[in-house]
Amino acid sequence: MKQVAAGVHQLTIQRFVNLYFVETTTPGAWVLVDTGLPGSEKDIIAAADKLFYPGTHPEAIILTHGHIDHSGSARALAEHWKVPVLAHPLELPFLRAEAVYPPADPTVDGGGTLAFVARFFLPQSFQLSDVVQALPTESEEEVPYLPGWRWLHVPGHAPGQVALFRDEDRTLLGADAFATANHESVPSLLLQIPQISVAGAPFNYNWEQVRESVQKLAALQPLAIGCGHGPVITGSAAAEGLARLAADFPMPAHGRYVQEPARLDAGGVQHLPPAPHDALRDKLRLTAVGLGALVGAALVVQRYKKHQQNEYPLKQSEAPKRKRTGEVKRFVL
Ligand SMILES: [Zn+2]
Ligand SMILES: [Zn+2]
Repeated sequence: MKQVAAGVHQLTIQRFVNLYFVETTTPGAWVLVDTGLPGSEKDIIAAADKLFYPGTHPEAIILTHGHIDHSGSARALAEHWKVPVLAHPLELPFLRAEAVYPPADPTVDGGGTLAFVARFFLPQSFQLSDVVQALPTESEEEVPYLPGWRWLHVPGHAPGQVALFRDEDRTLLGADAFATANHESVPSLLLQIPQISVAGAPFNYNWEQVRESVQKLAALQPLAIGCGHGPVITGSAAAEGLARLAADFPMPAHGRYVQEPARLDAGGVQHLPPAPHDALRDKLRLTAVGLGALVGAALVVQRYKKHQQNEYPLKQSEAPKRKRTGEVKRFVL
């Protein structure tokens, strides 16, 4: 557990995704921001019991967005603690199994290891209808249960993604609007090497919005940052790193959603640009076909050998008899 700022604690799950325990102004009361991958609930409950007191529960769970690494344990925790889960209304179709997120783009320029593995991710959707509620959106000034904090809509990576900001000490929980480690390199992520960078490139369905979201957050000049992925960054490195990313935003040279974004609204995905040609996937497919052919050939050879072994002893045992009957010549041939 790492401290981001006063009353804000970061828990890293499986070395790559973060969630946050945020204390409210009422002593002993707190809110959970994000829930990690499915199956993380035991670790989260144990960490909360240790941080606060055994049997503690949050006032609510706030999801920055609905991707599986942020909402995966939401149901288990909501049922365990009997607390509401709040998410921006634009995330609700994906959390209520009414829509699936735009498919990941494994061809995105600079997508790195994450783009490679994104080929194997299926579009996501969750059924949290009975536990999830809409974050009140009348104003961007207030976060329920967290006086002094405000939420900011930062779409582009997920349509209803929100970041949380506390003006008093300029603490920013940036979600996946950006990352504090190189999100495209698994080693950098696992080693938690600090680097303010683009988050989740293969999942960014609207790059212009991603850039605008980074600019919006950079304008806050945060002094402490905790994101969905990467270590805590504090001090001047926080604002400076984010300002650099905003000013020199690495717009990908190519990718499915670079020239034309996916269009989403309150009903989910309304339009997708055509799927790009994925040369690597073709190669993987060819490799799979090649491997399949090899495995098939090996099986045929194995079966043939088995067949021979079954035949051979029988004929050998028959050999003396055949020898006697003068049929051995045919057998030897
Ligand atoms: Zn995400
Ligand atoms: Zn994430």
